[in-house]
Amino acid sequence: MRFEVPGIAASLGIAVGTAHVIARVGGVTRRRVSDRDAEVERLRSAIDASRAEIESAKESLAGAGETGLVLDAQLLMHRDELLVDGAAQRIRSEGMGAEWAIEATVADLKAPLEASSSRYFRERAQDIEHVGQHILRHLRGKHDRLALPESSVVLVASDLSPADAVRLLGDHRVLGLVTEVGSSTSHTALLARALEVPAVVGAGPLVDRVVASVDVIVDGLRGRVVLDPRDEERDYAEKRGRRFRRFSSELRSKADEPATTLDGAEVTLMANIELPVEAIAARAHGARGIGLYRTEFLFLERDAPPEENEQVGVYRSVLEACADRPVVIRTFDLGGDKLPRSMQHSAGPNPALGLRAVRLMMREPEVMRSQVRAALRAAAHGPVELMFPMVEGPSTFRTLRGLVAAWQAELDAEGVEHGEVRLGAMVEVPSAALLAKELATEADFLSVGTNDLVQYTLAVDRSNADVAALGDPLHPAVVRLLAHIVQCADKVGTPVVMCGDMAADPIALPVVLGLGYRRLSVPTVSLPFAQELVRRVDASQLTALATEVLDLESAVASRAHVRAQLEDTLGSLWSEQGV
Ligand code: PEP
Ligand code: MG
Repeated sequence: MRFEVPGIAASLGIAVGTAHVIARVGGVTRRRVSDRDAEVERLRSAIDASRAEIESAKESLAGAGETGLVLDAQLLMHRDELLVDGAAQRIRSEGMGAEWAIEATVADLKAPLEASSSRYFRERAQDIEHVGQHILRHLRGKHDRLALPESSVVLVASDLSPADAVRLLGDHRVLGLVTEVGSSTSHTALLARALEVPAVVGAGPLVDRVVASVDVIVDGLRGRVVLDPRDEERDYAEKRGRRFRRFSSELRSKADEPATTLDGAEVTLMANIELPVEAIAARAHGARGIGLYRTEFLFLERDAPPEENEQVGVYRSVLEACADRPVVIRTFDLGGDKLPRSMQHSAGPNPALGLRAVRLMMREPEVMRSQVRAALRAAAHGPVELMFPMVEGPSTFRTLRGLVAAWQAELDAEGVEHGEVRLGAMVEVPSAALLAKELATEADFLSVGTNDLVQYTLAVDRSNADVAALGDPLHPAVVRLLAHIVQCADKVGTPVVMCGDMAADPIALPVVLGLGYRRLSVPTVSLPFAQELVRRVDASQLTALATEVLDLESAVASRAHVRAQLEDTLGSLWSEQGV
């Protein structure tokens, strides 16, 4: 019987096909063993086999770039003392069977993460679960869970581990993916995007409702899943899917051409990444560099901060993927709702206004030092820039610059090879926006983070779905701040980038261009659309449009005005994007 559920559009495109359910590894038998040493040995062999399988998934990706880095975190967890030794200990001291020991250890490790209010930590709980499932599968010696039928299918799963995702999504028989859990930044979503498989994640309880060989529509443009669609609905979805594939391959073929407006204004479009692997796809989509590398990923799966040397390696891998194009490393934006266990600070009663980003880093100078030193060392191998999140004004920026200079002098004294980095301030707090002139005088560049600027200007918690709709960057108060920032930066002659999601919002982008922003950094999936939008508009017309929007009194009015003014020019592009 037909039913439709909403989910999160995680990877663009539309797929129609027969559902194929990937079942979870079921509950384990709780048995006691007499030969405890032999059971520990059995556990260790299963862990080795599981690791070998992930290693081989990683190798299979070698030609497709460095998507394998996602798997590194999973490999690391196979060596995690808490997990591996914890399970072995249970076998030795309590005589538990290996399956039971793994299940119990995973449950213990997951519990505190699952209870966290932070999505970041809840996702880490999911990662531990994936590794546990992998090991369990090898303990049982069954691999057919992932076997695919001969014909093409749409996968429906509770979730996929990164290794399973690589193995399955890389198979030509897999047309699309639906998962019950996950977010647009979960590993499964990132891999689906990297492997260009249309996907909807976070669709809620679904697996049990899917009957064998029912048809499914995965609408990765609108974030919708339809099971057992009507015939005409299925035909229409297939048509839209074909049209989208044709359209995006046309856009892709122009990826390396400049993004220039009809009247000759050049726009530099860069990409935002969270995982190093995404740099490959960014380059392939014509990104002129990485305008925002969110480095919090480095804290994934671990309690201790990443070592300096490890960071140098990761930053160099991103530089290599970008082939001489600049990479803007944003220093750790931790705290708020993303507080690693190694940092013993309270999130405070109002985390978004507490010890977050540079405020936290100044309390943890060793963590910031290792990151800055690693960035300076990586800069010996390519153009690295460093930017600081949540700077509230110029004096904080001066302090940060002083710290960087001291760490640079340290590297000099140690004779360690390093390069120069330009230092930028993110403008994502209203005070920084109001002091943009002073900040632009201190910093080598400004980068506007509209996600937080909207949150702090409009008092709208960006992670609270109840108020999400109120956080519209086209609110005139935000637009006026944005106008002020770009005017100040231009006056001082300091480059300004916009890296917040507003630059990827198809209705807001014309206003951003109209305000005078010429450097933008957007998620990779949005790059081809942003490039195309730039090529279809007239910059002088957008200047007039932005001036009109500045005089409106609500975001709703701004959106309506942009739509009405640009329907003829951009209507077809908007509809391809599912707007
Ligand atoms: C922003 O706030 O707009 C931004 C780019 O940073 P993040 O989304 O990582 O907070
Ligand atoms: Mg931010």
